[in-house]
Amino acid sequence: MILDLLFPNRCLHCNRIIEADLLVCNLCFGQIHFTHYDYSKNNPVKEQCKLSFPVKNAYALIQFEENSLSRKIIHELKYKNREIIGKILAQWTIERLDFRDQKPEILVSVPLHPRKQRERGYNQLHLYTEALSKYYEIPFDHQLIKRNYYSKAQALKDKKHRQETVNTFSATHLITGKHILLIDDVFTTGTTVSSIAWEILNAGDNNVSVLVMAMDV
Ligand SMILES: [Zn+2]
Repeated sequence: MILDLLFPNRCLHCNRIIEADLLVCNLCFGQIHFTHYDYSKNNPVKEQCKLSFPVKNAYALIQFEENSLSRKIIHELKYKNREIIGKILAQWTIERLDFRDQKPEILVSVPLHPRKQRERGYNQLHLYTEALSKYYEIPFDHQLIKRNYYSKAQALKDKKHRQETVNTFSATHLITGKHILLIDDVFTTGTTVSSIAWEILNAGDNNVSVLVMAMDV
């Protein structure tokens, strides 16, 4: 395509021209801090989850540090409208994440607020989860968790009330006796993951594991 000639794909880090289906060049790839966590054992993201809910397993693909290439990648994922990014992160995950005998039965991704989804265009988390679902042959339940929507009138209520109610989630149908893998982009305090995990845990006799693209350390 003529556009490819005018605007060739460039490495996120050093700006070198690279193939269209890559994010970074081979040299810069070595600077991405993959965590090398073991999904079936204790690791920092699992420790962090354990502080707020009984997590079964947990995994983070990359470490998200100040001024790092990892941060650039996640920024690109969240704010740039490129369909390829979620798929590339899924490929990197597939190459590293081995569920062994602890394979989850259902994948659930953290839903975006509908307005944010419109602003961002692609739902990268959705594309990421779909790619994992296909590879690991685990169904992706798009509907299970919904982000509660609050009207403007409610948003005008006092600040304290607002903090209690915004960003909460609910399960749309009953699920029980399942091992569910909850997927999000960045893990910082774990508040989002924890509130969804409790929805799933309270709904029935389920196990919750966590997979995040990046962990903020
Ligand atoms: Zn580079």
